[in-house]
Amino acid sequence: MKNFMRGRLSLWLLLSLLVMANTPAASSFQQMTQDNPTTLLRAGQDRKTALKVNEAIFQAVGFSNTFMVVTNEGNVIIDTSMPFNAARHKQLLRAENSGPIKYIILTHAHGDHTGGVAAWKEAGTQIIAQRNHTEFMNYQTRLAGFYAQRNAAQFSLPVPQPRDWAGNYGANIVATALFDDRHEFKLGDLAFEVLSTPGETPDHLTVWIPKYKAAFVGDNFYSSFPNIYTLRGTEPRWALDYVQSLNKVLALKPEILLPSHGEPVYGNAEITRQLTRYRDAILYVHDEVVRGMNAGKDVWTLMREIHLPSALDVGESYGKLSWSIRGIYEGYVGWFDLKPETMYEQAASSVYPDLVKMAGGADAVAKLAMERVAANKPVEALHLTSIALAADPLNRAAIEARLKALELLRDQCRNSNERGWLDYSITTTKNKLAEKK
Ligand SMILES: [Zn+2]
Repeated sequence: MKNFMRGRLSLWLLLSLLVMANTPAASSFQQMTQDNPTTLLRAGQDRKTALKVNEAIFQAVGFSNTFMVVTNEGNVIIDTSMPFNAARHKQLLRAENSGPIKYIILTHAHGDHTGGVAAWKEAGTQIIAQRNHTEFMNYQTRLAGFYAQRNAAQFSLPVPQPRDWAGNYGANIVATALFDDRHEFKLGDLAFEVLSTPGETPDHLTVWIPKYKAAFVGDNFYSSFPNIYTLRGTEPRWALDYVQSLNKVLALKPEILLPSHGEPVYGNAEITRQLTRYRDAILYVHDEVVRGMNAGKDVWTLMREIHLPSALDVGESYGKLSWSIRGIYEGYVGWFDLKPETMYEQAASSVYPDLVKMAGGADAVAKLAMERVAANKPVEALHLTSIALAADPLNRAAIEARLKALELLRDQCRNSNERGWLDYSITTTKNKLAEKK
């Protein structure tokens, strides 16, 4: 993995601009649980041909897929993957049909779906997006500096130099046609319906082709519990939006389901089974959080208490339940935890040095942290080392205990995003140890 990373550095540098989505590409749960996010980005790189879904629909496989729908008057592209995939995807899909590109439809404005627009756009190509596309693009551009740092960390990339702030409304809007709830058009003899289906993002849409009973559902469905809160930071992704949008897709009774990450699902019975379970899992977690909030429970308690019943266990290889629980809680009511000290600017860490002094110094706290590692309580060990390092930032025993705790967590980790952040933390902790020598 490390050698791969070094060899492909220029490629990976590109990604810091792109990976706004945090969504999985792997075709199977098994594959995703083994991988960290950087590995997921390689999905489909070795494929020599596009996947033929039926006589008119083709899929170029990647971390994020590109779809082409062929008609007798030109073609429609649905999602465009990332810039580093675009040329390869275009080559694979053009090999199937080289007709003009009349429309590009963007299921949402994350960079792993919009990244290849420039590669596909021809003179006269219409680019269709949902109305919220404009604000969502502006939101991402507004915080581009923040996200560049977070993405660099999660994908083990060098942190890019900060660029000038583009302002609140500085995004380059590529869409040429925006719709609110529903948009229909015909190309040749093929009818397309484009439906607003918020979930992963507020501008998320689903493409429906009645003739083939094919639904292109973007990132509202993949093979893990959804990333309702993603660690790189996100505005709230509303659980009830996912539920309503999944209901909208279920009502279409699709025979082909085409997610933008992963593989197609065929047959209405199987699609209904998978989408229903997915919807019910999201609704279950949402309702348990709301029930707990109304009962006066705090967010930490709910993060520990809420688990999916086995019938709804869709896996947590990408989105994680505990993060989603906190995302739902704080999405609804924000950060205040009823503790009066939280109203003020002094963080809890302002008194850590005093506590460390009373405990007999940073070494003593580091020793306790090591005992917690030995007792398989790595998160408690991390808290303790944070306290020790607040008093003595270069304390070697504390840094070593921290490294051990992080490595233990990584060994036990079954979630690719979590693994990305643990790898990042392990690297920075090792660097600190090397600095110390
Ligand atoms: Zn995506």
